[in-house]
Amino acid sequence: MRKKKCELCPIACTDISICMGFSLADSPIRTYRNYKITHISIEKIGFYHYYPGSSAILVVTSGCNLLCSFCPEHDTVFSFSREKKSLNTLLSRILNLAERMGCHMIAFYCNSILDIDLMKSIREKFGYYKIVTLTNGFISSSHMIDYIKIVDAILLRIFGFSEETYSRITPFPDAYRYAREFIDVAKNNNKFLEVEFYVIPGITKEREFLYFLEFLREVNRDIPLHVRRFRPNFVELERRPTRTEVLLHYYNIARKYLNYVYADLWISPYSDTFCPNGHLLISRFGWKVKKVYIKKGRCPICGVEVPIVA
Ligand code: SF4
Repeated sequence: MRKKKCELCPIACTDISICMGFSLADSPIRTYRNYKITHISIEKIGFYHYYPGSSAILVVTSGCNLLCSFCPEHDTVFSFSREKKSLNTLLSRILNLAERMGCHMIAFYCNSILDIDLMKSIREKFGYYKIVTLTNGFISSSHMIDYIKIVDAILLRIFGFSEETYSRITPFPDAYRYAREFIDVAKNNNKFLEVEFYVIPGITKEREFLYFLEFLREVNRDIPLHVRRFRPNFVELERRPTRTEVLLHYYNIARKYLNYVYADLWISPYSDTFCPNGHLLISRFGWKVKKVYIKKGRCPICGVEVPIVA
């Protein structure tokens, strides 16, 4: 008898799930071997245009289909306890914390495609919660729309814009094509989207970044872009962090292409929001919102409409 494939991501496992999130016998069943649930600010998760100054319950679960060499959450994502937790156990812990904190937003980490059933349960039974996700975009084309429709807001984590770059950080070089497709599908479905791009020393090439910016500008120059600093982690401990001057070089390039660009720095102006005419809309210090100047969705000075959900 032929074994059934898991069709959630392009790897399409038949025997042992590479992501280690599913037990594949005849049907894909999610197993939770580890998880972490915390209450943090939406800015710390990475969103700057979705309810600025609010907070969310962030859920990180075990397993991932991209296996990045510098996964910041590898302690949870790739460490498995013997004890398996059920979806219902996890769900009740998430909701308990959300209730205790008076929080109406639940966020999932960039392996969130593995949590699609959990997100569906929240959507179906507890529809008053907003679901926001980070994602690596490595989702099979047939499931992308399904995923996009369940969630309210998305932050796409992108590590480069070529097979060559992806081949340096993950065993799946063509994952970048899916991340690219994801941007198109999300925008075609009018989904709220922010994007973060990692500048990785010794790997990221300026030419590739320009190509990415041209692509993003073509889709919509109002998509917020976060230029992220690489930090050594997991098996990438030898590589140095991205130097600030390199980060700012990429930030300055991106500003020529897009209306809303941020750099991974705590100080103004890199974490502040300005309208396309240069007027201050939100001042921040790191992940803290100091003041919001927007009036009725518009810049208070020039009146331009701003793509911020608040
Ligand atoms: S996609 Fe996210 S969770 Fe998965 S390995 Fe990469 S950084 Fe970790």
